[in-house]
Amino acid sequence: MTMIGDDLQQVKNRIEAACVTAGRDPAGVRLLAVSKTFGADAVREAHAAGQTAFGENYVQEGLDKIEVLADLRASLEWHCIGPLQSNKTRPVAEQFDWVHSIDRLKIAERLSAQRPAHLAPLNVCLQVNVDGGANKSGVPPEEALALARAVAALPHLRLRGLMAIPEPATDFAAQRDLCLRAHAVFESIREAGIALDTLSLGMSADLEAAVSAGSTMVRVGTAIFGGRARKPA
Ligand SMILES: *Cc1c(COP(=O)(O)O)cnc(C)c1O
Repeated sequence: MTMIGDDLQQVKNRIEAACVTAGRDPAGVRLLAVSKTFGADAVREAHAAGQTAFGENYVQEGLDKIEVLADLRASLEWHCIGPLQSNKTRPVAEQFDWVHSIDRLKIAERLSAQRPAHLAPLNVCLQVNVDGGANKSGVPPEEALALARAVAALPHLRLRGLMAIPEPATDFAAQRDLCLRAHAVFESIREAGIALDTLSLGMSADLEAAVSAGSTMVRVGTAIFGGRARKPA
């Protein structure tokens, strides 16, 4: 097996072990491979090893890969997971399958208006700022329900759930505590009657904590593709 194939298998083993520990069905946790900063060849290799869902942070980089990998398009699912500015929504609405980083209504309205009618509705998650950090993206937890109601009403979007990027913490208990905050917001929106099926939570360093807190989709980059060089300033 290739190195990416091996690493993918190891990540799947981690997810499965975390599910066993948590008493959850492994089928309830999807793996999103975060391919940002890695080339189309790395995506192709992961796809050959059975991976179909890929996450990109930077719109232009994602669009470039989607174009280079056009031959695989029917069997790939592209997720936009990075901050989205309003002048970049059109190509995302036209080319991606999911957006995880909706943090204000204006972005959602643009994506809905720009989603081509011949495509299925764009799957979206609201990004929630569970740490309360003023400089972090994401809607504050107390505003998430109102945003969810508004986004759920848009015609060309399908509201799937929430995404969160908790502050890094080194011990499992602290990671789990932050992940549980995201899960609590997720449950409160569901209890308000809005159907959500996706909690996008957990990365290479905290996927076990995220699974134990109810994540249904972990976004893993480093553990599959290796370390990323620091982005030039
Ligand atoms: C980079 C990134 C990831 C993956 O992080 P790793 O630590 O490399 O697994 C997940 N989610 C988002 C939003 C990211 O930007």
